[in-house]
Amino acid sequence: MKFATKAIHAGQEPDPTTGAVMTPIYQTSTYWQSSPGDNKGYEYSRGTNPTRKALENCLAALENAQFGLAFSSGMGATDAVMKLLLPGDEVITGNDLYGGSYRMFTKIFANYGINFHFLDLSDPAIVNEYVNENTKLIWIETPTNPTMQIVDIEAIAKISKEKNILLAVDNTFASPYLQNPIDLGADIVMHSVTKYIGGHSDVVMGALMLNDEELYKRLWFIYNSCGATPGPMDSFLVLRGIKTLHLRMKAHCENGRKVAEFLKTHPKVDKIYWPGFTDHPNHSVAKKQMRDFGGMISVTLKDAGLVETFRIVSSFKVFSLAESLGGVESLVNHPVTMTHASIPKAERDKAGVVDNLIRLSVGVEDIDDLLADLKQALA
Ligand SMILES: *Cc1c(COP(=O)(O)O)cnc(C)c1O
Repeated sequence: MKFATKAIHAGQEPDPTTGAVMTPIYQTSTYWQSSPGDNKGYEYSRGTNPTRKALENCLAALENAQFGLAFSSGMGATDAVMKLLLPGDEVITGNDLYGGSYRMFTKIFANYGINFHFLDLSDPAIVNEYVNENTKLIWIETPTNPTMQIVDIEAIAKISKEKNILLAVDNTFASPYLQNPIDLGADIVMHSVTKYIGGHSDVVMGALMLNDEELYKRLWFIYNSCGATPGPMDSFLVLRGIKTLHLRMKAHCENGRKVAEFLKTHPKVDKIYWPGFTDHPNHSVAKKQMRDFGGMISVTLKDAGLVETFRIVSSFKVFSLAESLGGVESLVNHPVTMTHASIPKAERDKAGVVDNLIRLSVGVEDIDDLLADLKQALA
């Protein structure tokens, strides 16, 4: 099946008891057994729930994967992957990560004896310099947040396969509509479903998609044992959101391109980060591995200190000043004080996350209203 058909139908059958076309919200924690162990495949909703199961099958299909696991947040999904590791293991990852991932790696898992190398992965060859017999996982994000660096998934996958290391890709920014890391050789795809997949800024959720059955069993064991699994109502909301994922992404990309082109020549804009520009340092890789360039754009403001930057981000009327991204509504964010505040200043500076950087999540409103809002806010 093609993407649009999977978004609407994958994992979902008419309800066997009533014929309901929409997957029911199975709001139950437990399931009747006719005699101990004799059940219909469901025992307790931390481990399995039919609404969540339908969602997981849909999520897997979107990433061309066999297995999907839904978590109660993106961080819950990341946490489960990290729990595959043991003390002494090493992880190679990017130096421009989602702030919460950086915080989890350095403040939680580093305390359990897991060692992280934060590298500029825009040249994949650097991985070879850090791989050793303890390296068990490569964790990448592309496009990165907030500076839209592009990492060559296929090139990293070639190294990870040669060295027998797991490769996990945080595919949140691209969404499965624009990029499918498993097709490029990754072992695990992670999503903050909260963002584009959910798409309506009303649910916090995460997911893992993968093909290897042994690995799926290990991750399911962690998921069921540690318990960061979402409830049926949230699972239903996401199933509903996914039905328009392809339509929303198309509109995000169209609006994103127009906003990026508008900002590129704006006198108030210094640097602009968007992988669709031919002068983006890894544009050719983006073009190779993504189907379009998305609606996430960051810019630095010319001659703007913190005060002027605050004034500008507070003066939008259509864009909302808020954390998060990927919803139908446009958002503006100030990474240094909002999404990336948990990263030390020295690390932020290295990644270009500076005081006058602002990040836009371009929504699917009318483009004329978005451009007019940018015009007045930057005036
Ligand atoms: C939001 C986000 C996460 C974390 O997901 P939550 O659902 O907020 O826990 C991880 N990675 C990226 C790239 C994100 O944008």
